Amino acid sequence: MSQNALSTEECPHCHEEALVLDQKCTNCGFPIEGSKEAQQVFLDKTEAIQKRVTETQTYVKWAVGLLYFIGMLYIFIFLRLNLTLKVKISGTLLGVPYVALGLIASRFKPHLIFLVALGFYLFTEFVLTSWISLPITLFNQVWAKVIVVSMLVIGSIAAYYSENLKKKLPKY
Ligand SMILES: [Zn+2]
Repeated sequence: MSQNALSTEECPHCHEEALVLDQKCTNCGFPIEGSKEAQQVFLDKTEAIQKRVTETQTYVKWAVGLLYFIGMLYIFIFLRLNLTLKVKISGTLLGVPYVALGLIASRFKPHLIFLVALGFYLFTEFVLTSWISLPITLFNQVWAKVIVVSMLVIGSIAAYYSENLKKKLPKY
């Protein structure tokens, strides 16, 4: 087959009927007409990227899990505690945004959503609690605050990194 001519054939890698341009599948980049070595290099590279995406996604899942955890903690603790109705409602309502942000982050732009969640967390922990004297802070211990902040920051970086890595992966 001429290397200059455009041809379509079924790609053995992505199984799409794809254009072959510059010896490569235009859908996934697999060097269909390249050497066995070139094909192996492509497969190794794709596998390495896929592995790093999986690794970074672990941090993203932990951060999403943390948001659900904080949200549920607020909701269940304040519903169960023997508090005045006002405190009960305030505490329970504070849990809702965390659950909502967790739901959004598992589907849409997690790196931004984690930063929004971090902002909301810092606001409730350090600003809101000093404005209104409600026992709404659940993380009195400094180490607990450090863990929450770290997990959200790491989750945001991992999500951003992961989204950029995915752009380098073939589109199937
Ligand atoms: Zn392909």
